[in-house]
Amino acid sequence: MKKIILLLSIFIISLGCENASQNSSKKSKQKNNTETLQQEKKAEFGIVIHGGAGFIKKSNLSDSLENAYRAKLKEAILTGNKILENGGSAVEAVQRSINIMEDSPLFNSAKGAVLNHEEKAELDASIMDGKTLNAGAVAGVTIIKNPINLAFEVMENSEHVLLSGKGAENFAKARNLEIVEPSYFITDKQLQNIKRIKKQAENKQATFYNSDINGEKFGTVGCVALDKNGNLAAGTSTGGMANKKFGRIGDSPIIGAGTYANNKTCAVSGTGWGEYYLRGVVAYDISALMEYKGLSLAEATNEVIHKKQPELGGNGGIIAIDKNGNISTEFNTAGMFRASLVNDSLSIKMFKEN
Ligand code: ASP
Repeated sequence: MKKIILLLSIFIISLGCENASQNSSKKSKQKNNTETLQQEKKAEFGIVIHGGAGFIKKSNLSDSLENAYRAKLKEAILTGNKILENGGSAVEAVQRSINIMEDSPLFNSAKGAVLNHEEKAELDASIMDGKTLNAGAVAGVTIIKNPINLAFEVMENSEHVLLSGKGAENFAKARNLEIVEPSYFITDKQLQNIKRIKKQAENKQATFYNSDINGEKFGTVGCVALDKNGNLAAGTSTGGMANKKFGRIGDSPIIGAGTYANNKTCAVSGTGWGEYYLRGVVAYDISALMEYKGLSLAEATNEVIHKKQPELGGNGGIIAIDKNGNISTEFNTAGMFRASLVNDSLSIKMFKEN
């Protein structure tokens, strides 16, 4: 009998060890997924952009489309980098890099934005200055060519942080921003997309846009930067999520959810299922983990994107940069359009591997 108990105990202990070793290899695997670049020496300046996360796989993109994305990401990051190189501010670099992607129909922001249930584009954007903690944001705008420029105007030239709808548009006119017809934002691709999604919704295959279910992607754009004065900034611009209800506001224009910058910690821009990013206060959470728990940028972004968001049910990614120029481009989806340029090293990637 004693022998049997002894054998049983050895068996149970060995099972426990196996589990523990599986867990630890999972953990280290998760760590390997961390796309964080720790700078050996503090970078003088640096910039990271994203063009959305989601079901982005090599097999889903033709060579010509892949090249088009690479070229646009390169143009956007070089635009911001030039500003930083010349001693310009992180805020300006963020704004101008985002403008390039807003003007491109490849991304879900401004031109090319996904459409709501009424088949219209409703745009959200925000920007934050890590030095002053000043911030500006707009939600549900329909005629502003570059919503990130309006977010900047709200930050710099109003006593508010967030303006929405008509009021935001009136303010844009008062600030002489470029106004376009609502039809300017609508591309054939997004029109076909919304009709297909609505049909799927009728058949109960989809009630709300889910990139993994539909094999699609989020395409919001964002940028984070560190300038030569040691200041951080972050910005995000989006059409939101396809088939959203009229008036729905996601995480992108909400400071702390989709965008956050603080010179003490880091600058973050997110892309993903906005409802979960709102509930997880994702961008601020990353900063708070660094500020209050002393986590590194890598640890904080890993914790939020690979643990807390999946536990909540959310998917997506973030880009982040800290005051030393360490950068992080994390996502829990198949891919994320992203590029970084720090210490003369340019990287442009879309999938997990490259
Ligand atoms: N986060 C955005 C939203 O929910 C969507 C995206 O990232 O593409 O509005």
